[in-house]
Amino acid sequence: MQETDMIDKRQFYIDGAWTDPKEGRDKEVIDPSTEEACAVISLAGPADVDAAVAAAKAALPGWMATPAAERIATVERFLTIYETRAEDIAQAVSTEMGAPIDLSRRAQVPLAVKHIKGFLAAAKDFPFEAPLSDASADTRILYEAVGVCALITPWNWPLNQISLKSIAALIAGCSMVLKPSEQSPLNAMIWAECMAEAGVPKGVFNLINGDGAGAGTRLSEHKDVDMISFTGSTRAGVAISKAAAATLKRVHLELGGKGANLIFGDADAGAVERGVRQMMNNTGQSCNAPTRMLVQRDVYDATVETAASVAKSISVGPAAMAGLHLGPVVSRAQWDKIQGMIQQGIDEGARMVAGGPGLPEGVNCGYFVRPTVFADATNDMTIAREEIFGPVLTIIPFDTEEQAIAIANDTPYGLSNYVQTADGARANRVARALRSGMVEINGKPRGPGAPFGGMKQSGNGREAGAWGLADFMEVKAVGGWAI
Ligand code: NAD
Repeated sequence: MQETDMIDKRQFYIDGAWTDPKEGRDKEVIDPSTEEACAVISLAGPADVDAAVAAAKAALPGWMATPAAERIATVERFLTIYETRAEDIAQAVSTEMGAPIDLSRRAQVPLAVKHIKGFLAAAKDFPFEAPLSDASADTRILYEAVGVCALITPWNWPLNQISLKSIAALIAGCSMVLKPSEQSPLNAMIWAECMAEAGVPKGVFNLINGDGAGAGTRLSEHKDVDMISFTGSTRAGVAISKAAAATLKRVHLELGGKGANLIFGDADAGAVERGVRQMMNNTGQSCNAPTRMLVQRDVYDATVETAASVAKSISVGPAAMAGLHLGPVVSRAQWDKIQGMIQQGIDEGARMVAGGPGLPEGVNCGYFVRPTVFADATNDMTIAREEIFGPVLTIIPFDTEEQAIAIANDTPYGLSNYVQTADGARANRVARALRSGMVEINGKPRGPGAPFGGMKQSGNGREAGAWGLADFMEVKAVGGWAI
């Protein structure tokens, strides 16, 4: 595509208006299904970051002082507007990050609706101001906005992360600067349009585009930013924590994962297929994907066979095509990284039972990856230790429950683990022993409003529901409150 045909999305949303960059640099947004540019954005320079932060700082006192009920009503208006833009957003997500259009419509876009409803429900019961106890009724506990928040989000489930951060921040009374991933900025720009239409006061919500090294670092270091809420790689989480240290701002991190899925001999008949599909969903680009399948020895051979045949049955195709296939991965860089990991799996001696390196058969353009399964892996192999972020499953055998727990916990990550067994007592025992922020048993999802987040190098924050609201608030204790 010629640059002249490309959609011009160079402006930022600052202080209630779409604004030309002061010192931006052009960046093309690449459609990973076609490898062609679909839009051009601007990467913010320091003056653009400063302008957005200044707008948020100026808007903070007014928004903080707005009664919670009014902030909640603003979010209710936002939700209605967001739902009317659902198709535009689904198209943007599919074009810029490659999620098949049905996945965008069915999951990428509705996830934000689910989170917004969860926050609205939690907000209605949230103790913004409450007595400490009956015995200390004149000690009042106040939950107040942390302040100006910088929200830095990734490309893989973009609306999920943008909603979890910006809606919680709005309800908490924070003002904010959103910097979405430079790989998937277009959906976030529609999100900003919805904020404007919902009547969010100027300066409360601002959006700039930019890269991590430039705008991301500037936001992390900024003296007028009180909190960074970041979702992305552990590498960037470390960089942000260091950049933020000098100003001691709150650093709220949702990072990578290397989830284990413990398949015991008495797991239900659908457990293996469910595990493979869950892992491959969104082309393996989910931080909470069950990427290590740990399998008890008595069902090991049958499990490997099932996993391989499920992976072989999964088709791959462009994002615009209807259906339940896998789309491409987001970028050339991710494709190269995944190919390197597949090769490493082979070189380190794991047994490849489905997929493999290179493009799928019949495909000659787009960042497509073959759904790949490795068996007979050990937990010290690179494919068991590092986040691959592509459709690559690693299967590891185990003999005893203790061994399975030890393997599952032998990772720097601690985001989400999965347990498959018919023995309820064992399931609960294993769930307690796993060092992760989340555990799912027998394919049962966590209920609405449950907190999302990790332990260890998967981060320190909790998002969604009441926990997600509290993470954007300070707690103030007042003695002698007049009652
Ligand atoms: P990334 O870390 O490269 O980028 C994420 C965001 O951080 C982008 O907006 C990017 O511009 C910005 N960024 C990058 N380096 C930065 C720096 N030094 N300072 C400030 N900002 C910086 O990650 P990605 O490749 O976009 O996303 C994939 C990663 O996100 C995976 O590791 C995945 O596990 C993780 N992830 C975690 C969760 C979770 O909730 N735990 C959810 C989704 C994705």
